[in-house]
Amino acid sequence: MHIRKIRKALEGIKEYVPGKNIEEAASRYGIDERDIIKLSSNENPYPPSRRVIEAIKSSAGKINFYPDPNTKKLYEVISGYTGLPEENVFVGAGVDGVLDTLMRVFIEAGEEVIIPIPTFSYYEITSIVHGAIPLFLKMDDNFSIFSDEILKKADREKAKMTIICSPNNPTGNIFPKKELIKILDAFDGIVLLDEAYAEFSNYTYIDLVDQYDNLIVLRTLSKAFGIAGMRVGYALLPEWIKKACLKVATPFSIGYLSIEAAYASLNDLEYLRCVVDKIKKGRRYLEDNIPFKTFPSEANFVLVDVSPLESSFVMEELMKKGLIVRDCSSFRGIGKNFIRISVGREEDNRRVVDALKEIFEELH
Ligand SMILES: *Cc1c(COP(=O)(O)O)cnc(C)c1O
Repeated sequence: MHIRKIRKALEGIKEYVPGKNIEEAASRYGIDERDIIKLSSNENPYPPSRRVIEAIKSSAGKINFYPDPNTKKLYEVISGYTGLPEENVFVGAGVDGVLDTLMRVFIEAGEEVIIPIPTFSYYEITSIVHGAIPLFLKMDDNFSIFSDEILKKADREKAKMTIICSPNNPTGNIFPKKELIKILDAFDGIVLLDEAYAEFSNYTYIDLVDQYDNLIVLRTLSKAFGIAGMRVGYALLPEWIKKACLKVATPFSIGYLSIEAAYASLNDLEYLRCVVDKIKKGRRYLEDNIPFKTFPSEANFVLVDVSPLESSFVMEELMKKGLIVRDCSSFRGIGKNFIRISVGREEDNRRVVDALKEIFEELH
């Protein structure tokens, strides 16, 4: 009977907890779905550009064919956007899909992955699934972490990979470039830098990709480009790693329509600029007007410390008012007093600030 069992390594994994969704909130509190604002998954609050919608419509009749995941035109346009040659680009089914491919490429059972926390929880899940052991390093009270702490862990024989998220989810801060360079210079293993939110930030370190043999930068079209539903992400990486990725990636992992949508959205940078501008203004508004302590963010969300209240309580109170935010207590290492609010449209941001003010005033 022992054969009919899931792998032992999976026993320690907690299911990925996504932000709550609209249906759930509507049925729990009897609110009309149209009155509910979802600010829990760092999605783009604006619909994709018209060019993306047109591209999807006009290619819908061809989905009887398999997609070509290495389609030249997508690699060309990513290369143009990032300034790196196609040999340094690898595309996959979202950052999540690219992460899985990289784990398949690098992890031997029992090797260690260094993960500063709190951070995006899928790093832990995919590491364990691929037989690695996550080594967690807690950030300080300002969510900083320094290269010497990471390098101390990286000195272990089995340390294979370090994952840095910058801007970090759910805290919003960036990892300093100086610190990253110290790690790249001293660490023999692989450094994964997740820049899923780079477009909202004044910082990106993709210029380091062609200087280091062990740096991989992850990017996505799910956040600033606003096509989360299409599942497209990419890595900027040394050519030797790209070659290995092509060997092990799931064939046809990105759908036909996703490829067309990605191509169209990377060709509409004016739309991107316009959306990013509005979101940065909204972020500023949230940071300035939320009555609780907020943390400066370089991403499209703001972390809020709702102490002395608990995050689950505040999330529930907001949900009663039709506002879905992320209770961060499921993030390892952050505790019970933080919520994360994705920046919405102007009217959404106003609603969430007003609601938080009411909760704050009741406290005092
Ligand atoms: C949202 C998010 C992702 C997921 O990106 P996909 O391309 O949609 O898979 C990756 N990393 C971080 C840090 C994120 O917050």
